[in-house]
Amino acid sequence: MIDYIILIVVLAVLLVGVGGTMLLRPRGMHGVRRSRAKELDLTGSMTAVKDEENNGRSGTATATATAPPPTPTAPAQRAPEPAAPPRPTLEKPPPSAGRMVRLRARLARSQSGFGAALLSLLSRDRLDEDTWDEIEEVLITADVGVTPARQLVSDLKTRVKVEGTRTPAEVQGLLRTELLAQVQTEAPRTLRTQRHEGRPAVVLVVGVNGTGKTTTCGKLARSLVGDGDTVLLGAADTFRAAAADQLQTWGERVGAETVRSDKEGADPASVAFDAVSTGIEQEVDVVLIDTAGRLHTKNDLMDELGKVKRVVEKRTAIDEVLLVLDATTGQNGLRQARVFAEVVDVTGIVLTKLDGTAKGGIVIAVQRELGVPVKLVGLGEGPDDLAPFDAETFVDAILGVDAPR
Ligand code: GDP
Repeated sequence: MIDYIILIVVLAVLLVGVGGTMLLRPRGMHGVRRSRAKELDLTGSMTAVKDEENNGRSGTATATATAPPPTPTAPAQRAPEPAAPPRPTLEKPPPSAGRMVRLRARLARSQSGFGAALLSLLSRDRLDEDTWDEIEEVLITADVGVTPARQLVSDLKTRVKVEGTRTPAEVQGLLRTELLAQVQTEAPRTLRTQRHEGRPAVVLVVGVNGTGKTTTCGKLARSLVGDGDTVLLGAADTFRAAAADQLQTWGERVGAETVRSDKEGADPASVAFDAVSTGIEQEVDVVLIDTAGRLHTKNDLMDELGKVKRVVEKRTAIDEVLLVLDATTGQNGLRQARVFAEVVDVTGIVLTKLDGTAKGGIVIAVQRELGVPVKLVGLGEGPDDLAPFDAETFVDAILGVDAPR
């Protein structure tokens, strides 16, 4: 009989425990929820995740990151869940180094003969004014922009006059030097994704919808994981229904958690704030925030993006604001870029779709226009088709130079 009573008491205590846990389940601000990628089966690999550097950081995913630390409520939370979601296989992305060289062929194919046309014109016996005009035209058609094109032609004229004879190799060398002078910037291209003492690096990804923002966030998360960083994603593009799912899928493939909202159209600033707070709490290396890029008016954008930035900065400083630009949109893309640069301090440009029909001159034009370096380039739809931009590889690809590497 006593045993029977004890059993009833134990059952009652358990029931109260489960009910209480359900009621008190923590929620983020404004219904923000976290997709815990770490709750998935991560036992597959993740050996690339640096562990030595992370020594002493609690909560940081390591090579053996599997489940979050057990809490008294963990069994009670799991019990009512009907069926386990399908477990994606955790991938081990390659590191970022050397990617642009690997993707060089794609870059060369996409430049629609811009380098070859210049080389052929410059190799003519007589370089008269008409030829120089043609050279300028090729540069402008390749999206270099009028002012830089004129500058290039003027510099080339001077060099040709001084150097006289021109063998094909000399012409190539000449053009290479001049293009490099236009493509290279003073500003460093290295992404500021180093974790700081006591807080993660925070990267805000902005740009017009359709440019490849969400894809870039996903690819960048992969690349950072490939380099050994722990990453947390913030789905602050709450206006496009599929964006959060898209981002979460990217994250799950490499074991990066996504902070998102339950509600479509939720306040993007709240999601961004919650993402950064979670990133600080979990002591991850980098927090990547995807934002919405509705460009109705500059005021809308200022309200939206300006607020995201202000709210995040209440919690921590932002290390990078990456502007994603579709390289195939030419001058129109440049106009959009200008509006974004007025609203937020852009620190780097990601040029996507450079594998397509883009004309490479946009690299020169956009850097000059915004005074900000291109830091990353998208060279395809594949998960690892995002590369740190390298000026020499880019110019060599345009000119068809087999760079000794
Ligand atoms: P968002 O609205 O700015 O977030 O754009 P998405 O990330 O959804 O991307 C829009 C489309 O561009 C998708 O079909 C992507 O696969 C595609 N895309 C993104 N980056 C690249 C790239 O570098 N090359 C190519 N060819 N397609 C890309």
